[in-house]
Amino acid sequence: MSVNITEIFGSNVFSTDVMRERLPKGVFREVMDVMENGGNISIETADIVANAMKDWAVEKGATHYTHWFQPLTGITAEKHDSFLTRPENSRTLLQLTGKQLIMGESDASSFPSGGLRSTHYARGYTAWDMTSPAFVKEMTAGTILCIPTIFVSYHGEALDKKTPLLRSMQAISTQALRILRLFGNTAAKKVIPQVGSEQEYFLVDREKYLKRRDLIYTGRTLFGAPSPKGQELEDQYFGVIRDRVGSFMADLNQELWKLGIPATTQHNEVAPAQHEMAPIFTMCNLAVDQNQLTMETMKRVATRHGLVCLLHEKPYAGVNGSGKHNNWSIGTDTGENLLDPGDTPNENLQFLLVLSCIMKAVDVHADLLRQSASCVGNEHRLGGQEAPPAIISICLGDQLESVVDQIVSNADSIQLLASGKLDSGVSTVPVLSRDATDRNRTTPFAFTGNKFEFRMVGSSDSIADANVTLNAIVAEALCDAADVLEQAPDFSSACSQLIHENMARHQRIIFNGDGYSDAWVAEAARRGLPNLASLVDAVPALTTEKAVRLFTKFGIYTQSELEARAEIMYETYIKVTKIEANTMIHMASKHYIPTVISYTTRLAQSITSVSAACPEADLSVQRKLLTQISDYLSQASCALEQLKPLMERVDSIPGVKEMALAYRTAVVPAMDALRYPIDALELLVDKSAWPVPTYGDLMFEV
Ligand code: ADP
Ligand code: MG
Repeated sequence: MSVNITEIFGSNVFSTDVMRERLPKGVFREVMDVMENGGNISIETADIVANAMKDWAVEKGATHYTHWFQPLTGITAEKHDSFLTRPENSRTLLQLTGKQLIMGESDASSFPSGGLRSTHYARGYTAWDMTSPAFVKEMTAGTILCIPTIFVSYHGEALDKKTPLLRSMQAISTQALRILRLFGNTAAKKVIPQVGSEQEYFLVDREKYLKRRDLIYTGRTLFGAPSPKGQELEDQYFGVIRDRVGSFMADLNQELWKLGIPATTQHNEVAPAQHEMAPIFTMCNLAVDQNQLTMETMKRVATRHGLVCLLHEKPYAGVNGSGKHNNWSIGTDTGENLLDPGDTPNENLQFLLVLSCIMKAVDVHADLLRQSASCVGNEHRLGGQEAPPAIISICLGDQLESVVDQIVSNADSIQLLASGKLDSGVSTVPVLSRDATDRNRTTPFAFTGNKFEFRMVGSSDSIADANVTLNAIVAEALCDAADVLEQAPDFSSACSQLIHENMARHQRIIFNGDGYSDAWVAEAARRGLPNLASLVDAVPALTTEKAVRLFTKFGIYTQSELEARAEIMYETYIKVTKIEANTMIHMASKHYIPTVISYTTRLAQSITSVSAACPEADLSVQRKLLTQISDYLSQASCALEQLKPLMERVDSIPGVKEMALAYRTAVVPAMDALRYPIDALELLVDKSAWPVPTYGDLMFEV
């Protein structure tokens, strides 16, 4: 099937071009002005825009509209209302008013608020975020006009992920502009964080998925012995894409392109049945919206192909999990990337200053950055032998690291390592010039040419939190720098001195070696870098004095918003772990144990009947198997008996923090203790009797 990308790209987006075409000139100008410079549009303008938006959407087949927002569940929310109005003179009219466009009021009491709003103060308000374009979504429930909004409480506290993100973008813009002005840049009006997020995912056959209660309820397998083949041959990574997966990808691309999402890269990932999609980067708030839409679209399109898309960070034990590399840079509205080192970074004072500020930001707030990538699924990934470790460090690559070294050691003139030539030794292949940096797959925060790649974020998680944190911590470091430099009598010497100071003080955050090694864990401890192994350990970073000072200074979060978020993280950890434990109890009692009991009964009966028929037959194999299986069965039953009362005890602990900690330190090990004998049984019991598809079935039969 041939597709004309230019024809379908953005066709479902109420873009600037559509507005230019459909709005009266004056109205269009007013809207653009508010989009670029902030402020409010008048209600008259809103009426005209709403009407044009409705007409456009109805032409696309839309019957309903919704305010589309991102509550603290980490996914998106929508409530559809049709365009219908009360019939007048027996005529049915379709309508969207300016008021309906700009603001919505809904009962927010069933969304997590972390105590920001109790049920008797239930009002939540959605307000149009004009910086994200409206779009229509084609769903089985109908074609819906989606209006991106923020979501706040009656008192204006953020109840969503978008509000703080927009606040953090303002903060970094203001602070970065101060720095640019010092370097004589008077043209830039705004500095905008740019984000491209690579999305990893697994596909699984839907029929098989539906036979696994763990996948259905939790998105990951809670039991499962390793299959004979895993990822050790490395034959999946960048391998040829199988037809069924390929047709999913082709379909996905088209759906994303219609929504204006520039899906560009697609490939097989390391683990069997694991894949990746990367879009072209765009401004941070739009990238967050687009990533949410991408995840949603992946799930929807998979169903059409008889597949299920697993976005969980660790669907299968023993093979790679999924993450989301968050590529981040900051650029001006005039197109300058502040993270572009140019050909001579050693002489690029502005770049070096920004770099030194980022080193400072990441070092000072390593705990916060780690926290921003915490979600329950990431517990099984960070620190495992595949994802970045839970210790935050920066990898700059050889060339920049050497520049930093020379600056720190006060070298007289700073030399640049030659990036060198790449000679393959094949005479017909030209000698190429090599990148200045090799890739370091083990680092959580890598400089990759003209951007930083934050690799910790989980595949199912919203990228909003990570970007709020990046924007905020870098804004603070830039602000500190501007405070000093604006007062300096001699700007250029003060600037060099500040670069030296920042780099010297925060050089400990630079690490170019193997982040998976035990030696790094020891070395990081020696350097005093935090190693927050679990989400439960990372949450307190949100409410330290340092964090509260940072976020309140730039108006990104109030203290109570931070406390609310911490509480929600603990609550979510408890709820998710509890669902997982309950699912394990369910599967062990309803699937595995009964299966194993019938199997052992049949085995015992066959031993009895064979020995009756043939007393001299050697039944040692059968007897040994029966003993082994019965041993594991009793281990499984014991573990099950311990898990149930343990959960009851833990559930009665007062305080979400304490309860979350108990789930992590007591319930999680008890879950592991139940998994172990059941996985062992899977390898002993007849495959045809096993009640659920195995790892081999799930990963190799897609
Ligand atoms: P890499 O090979 O280093 O992973 P890619 O070119 O594949 O880099 O890009 C990965 C992601 O980074 C893509 O989504 C891409 O659009 C995005 N990206 C590229 N340049 C920038 C930039 N300056 N700022 C933010 N994201 C960027
Ligand atoms: Mg990458």
